[in-house]
Amino acid sequence: MRRFFKPLRVILALGCFVLVNAAFLAPMIAASLCAEDAPQTVCAAAWQLWPAIVALNLPVVLAILAVTALMGRVYCSTLCPLGVYQDVWFRIRRLFTKRGIPFSPPMNRVRYWVFALTVLAAFAGCFALPALVEPYSVYGRFVTNLVRPALQWAINLLAAWCDAHEKYWVMSDEVVVAGFLSFWVAAASAMALAALAAIKGRWFCNAVCPVGTLLSIVAKRPLMRISIDASRCVKCGACAHVCKAACIDVKNATIDDSRCVRCFNCIGACRKGAVRL
Ligand code: SF4
Ligand code: SF4
Ligand code: SF4
Repeated sequence: MRRFFKPLRVILALGCFVLVNAAFLAPMIAASLCAEDAPQTVCAAAWQLWPAIVALNLPVVLAILAVTALMGRVYCSTLCPLGVYQDVWFRIRRLFTKRGIPFSPPMNRVRYWVFALTVLAAFAGCFALPALVEPYSVYGRFVTNLVRPALQWAINLLAAWCDAHEKYWVMSDEVVVAGFLSFWVAAASAMALAALAAIKGRWFCNAVCPVGTLLSIVAKRPLMRISIDASRCVKCGACAHVCKAACIDVKNATIDDSRCVRCFNCIGACRKGAVRL
């Protein structure tokens, strides 16, 4: 049973990631394919925590918090597109080095300060700070400013080829590039987050992200915990080696649930069956 958790988690995460990207890109693709109506995409923002809080969408907020209280931060391993983005870079890291990310203590002071400032800024009506650190805005900026123009440019190349061969399957359109500042904020944060994820795994999630901080408070002692059975553990470190959240303290045989992003890597890595759900 335990071995199904990780594949299930990966399938869910990829499905949500595709839906979020489809919500951003489907209208543009539909227009290029001369579709009369853009396809209806699930409103991806509706089940993202920060947009749901801002929209006072209580059923979604309560559902996410309830699932987190029951199962820990599964939101961070399945629903959040920025989490998947970081996981992609963490995986790329593993192609080059087999070294893990050593356990580190929680950076509570930093994350609570960022959380408090973000909430205060939002209450004060200043949305610049939330937009810089809130995961859905950050990811949306990547897609809108970087992916969408690149995709439109590729579509235009294809349209030119179709025209040359008298096939009118695809229509070209203007490549819309956002303003100078928007573009460079998106490019700089995409590169910084990629580098951070490749070097330090989910560091952003556990030190900066205000949504992660809120979830970490709720996930401190979830009903479904991941723990180490000290009587079975031989302290080989294999579980910590694959942990992207650096939250497994092998020496003391403990796992920090508030930072665990429920990737389930550690369960499969332990050959002694000491990591338990
Ligand atoms: S901590 Fe924030 S950025 Fe990381 S996965 Fe969770 S919601 Fe997304
Ligand atoms: S992989 Fe298993 S045996 Fe090795 S340190 Fe982790 S819990 Fe202990
Ligand atoms: S303890 Fe680490 S490896 Fe295990 S599920 Fe949590 S984040 Fe993943």
